Amino acid sequence: MRILHTDILVLGLGSAGSAAVYRALQGGASVVGAEQMAGPGGTSTYGGVNNWEPGVSFEGMHREIARRLLERGDAFVGKTTEYVSAANRFATSDRSGDPYETTLKRFGVHPDDMRRLHYEPDAMSAVLQELMEEADSGGRLTLFYNTRFVSLDTQNRRIRTCVLDTPSGPVTVCPKQVIDCTGDLLPARMAGCTCVIGEDARETYGEEAAPDGATRFLNGLTQCFRITETGVDMPGVPEEYNDVDLTGWVEHMNRTMGPVSCFNVYPRGGIYVNMLPTGEGDLYLQYDLPVLKHICEARAYRYVQWLAEKGYLRGWEITHMFPLLGLRESWRLVGRYVLTIEDIYNGFAPSLGTEHTVAIADHPADTHGRGSRCKDTYPGYGIPYECLLPKEIDNLLVACRGSSFTHLAASSTRLSRTMLQLGEAAGTAAAMCIQDGYDPADVDVTALRKLRGIE
Ligand SMILES: Cc1cc2nc3c(=O)[nH]c(=O)nc-3n(C[C@H](O)[C@H](O)[C@H](O)COP(=O)(O)OP(=O)(O)OC[C@H]3O[C@@H](n4cnc5c(N)ncnc54)[C@H](O)[C@@H]3O)c2cc1C
Repeated sequence: MRILHTDILVLGLGSAGSAAVYRALQGGASVVGAEQMAGPGGTSTYGGVNNWEPGVSFEGMHREIARRLLERGDAFVGKTTEYVSAANRFATSDRSGDPYETTLKRFGVHPDDMRRLHYEPDAMSAVLQELMEEADSGGRLTLFYNTRFVSLDTQNRRIRTCVLDTPSGPVTVCPKQVIDCTGDLLPARMAGCTCVIGEDARETYGEEAAPDGATRFLNGLTQCFRITETGVDMPGVPEEYNDVDLTGWVEHMNRTMGPVSCFNVYPRGGIYVNMLPTGEGDLYLQYDLPVLKHICEARAYRYVQWLAEKGYLRGWEITHMFPLLGLRESWRLVGRYVLTIEDIYNGFAPSLGTEHTVAIADHPADTHGRGSRCKDTYPGYGIPYECLLPKEIDNLLVACRGSSFTHLAASSTRLSRTMLQLGEAAGTAAAMCIQDGYDPADVDVTALRKLRGIE
């Protein structure tokens, strides 16, 4: 088996992982990155969530990404184009949807920033790849695509080796530091880090809006897809989905007048559809992921057919089904600090203070599939470095939507630009560890913030 030594191993190259690679290289480290898809971006590319909003944040990689995409005509800045309402041609419901802008307005974000960057997913992937390559001087970067992290080995609170299943066979990586950016935390869970799934009980973190007891409820999941006007009506659900019983789904659509969906125009034509949601989040716990994806794809096809039956989207077809199922939430780390919704209301974690903040976020608690029980107005807030630190493993950082947040806090933190900032913080911190020979828990957060230009 091929053996590879590296300073830093980044697992999962979504928003957070790409940013972690970028900053780790800028910090002078050698880096191996592994991603199961054919390129970088994760949910924001291969999951079909092809937009994000500027909102508030520190300066960072997201601004450079936006600049390049806009300059090349691969993105445009616009309001959410079509929200379901009786007034637009995609209307499927008489509950006129709450426009996305009002979610941001509740936050006090300046009206000029209440717009989304809509981009082509392959262009976003290309920009992320380009930035990672530009940060590499002297051939310090090795990227594996179409590659799954499959197992690891620990000793004395450290990850010693990780096995990657690459297209040319298994590779054992021996890293000094590891950054788990996989979203679902397979590496952290395999390493024995405490992780949880579902809602936290009120008393666990003192969150007033949390339920009396812990539950397995998860934020709703969505299979995104691209539709194009071809002049042909959606021909129906393809045969390969004949094994999926869609009776309940059709009854659900008839009863609710269809899922509330967000239709966004692409710069190069066509529309991406984000159903809110395609299924309850806890389906993640009932099925293996490939089976669940298959069910959700069948639901998506049936949805477009159902719209055509109601007279909408006539002449439009699904031309791309995104290969990653859109999971808003799954496993979460219980790290050295767990960010709560009360911290978010407060603006920062009181026991740590603002000086531990490594990312700023500004989205309200946003739990699809269930009405939010949270207060809906609060200012931007800081995420402390300690949310990236597991308690059990010394050479691991967890930077992704699965970082150390409560269920309620995660429904706010999970946005792409926030994940980019967490990845940037983790990559910078890991490179500091390599340079000075310590572990992530020993990082001087003031020095980290200085390196990231946060003060
Ligand atoms: C339907 C939907 C709509 C959303 N809308 C918005 C929005 O409007 N604005 C916004 O900002 N955010 C939105 N979000 C949230 C945001 O897109 C995600 O939370 C964010 O992109 C997650 O980034 P991440 O880096 O944490 O994880 P991901 O982007 O999911 O990256 C994780 C990566 O790890 C890889 N991976 C996982 N396991 C393995 C393994 N074993 N081996 C190798 N690779 C692995 C995956 O392939 C993936 O590329 C939405 C999310 C969804 C699902």
